[in-house]
Amino acid sequence: MRELYAHPAFRLPFLRRFSAMTLAPLCILYREPAEDVDPTTRRHEAEHLAQARRVGLGRFYATYLWDWVRGLVRTRSLDAAYLQIRWEVEAYAAQDDPCWPSECPDLRRVDEAKSAAS
Ligand SMILES: [Zn+2]
Repeated sequence: MRELYAHPAFRLPFLRRFSAMTLAPLCILYREPAEDVDPTTRRHEAEHLAQARRVGLGRFYATYLWDWVRGLVRTRSLDAAYLQIRWEVEAYAAQDDPCWPSECPDLRRVDEAKSAAS
C-alpha cells in the first residue's frame, strides 16, 4: 500500500475540504507532506483501509456510495451526507484510538512515519 504525500489532487475544488483520501487497494493520498500529517488523520485513513479489507472492495465502495447518495437526498448537505456514511462514522469513532487496525500491518504507524520523516 503506497502512501503519497503533498498530493496535488487536493487542489481540486471538490477535494479541498479533505486532508486525506484512501483509494483501496492502490494508495492513500495526503494533502500535507509526511512530517505534517496529523496522527489522527493517519489513523482515520488506516481505519478506512481496514474496513475495505474486512468487507471487500466491492461492498466497501458500494455501501460508501449508497450511504452518501442516501444522505444527500435526506439532508441536502454535502457535509451532513458525508458524516452519515457508515464507514465515516466508524472511522471518526476509531481515529483517536491508539490501537492500530490489525488489518494494516503494512502501513507505517505514526511513530515510525515520524522518525522516517525526520
Ligand atoms: Zn473518512
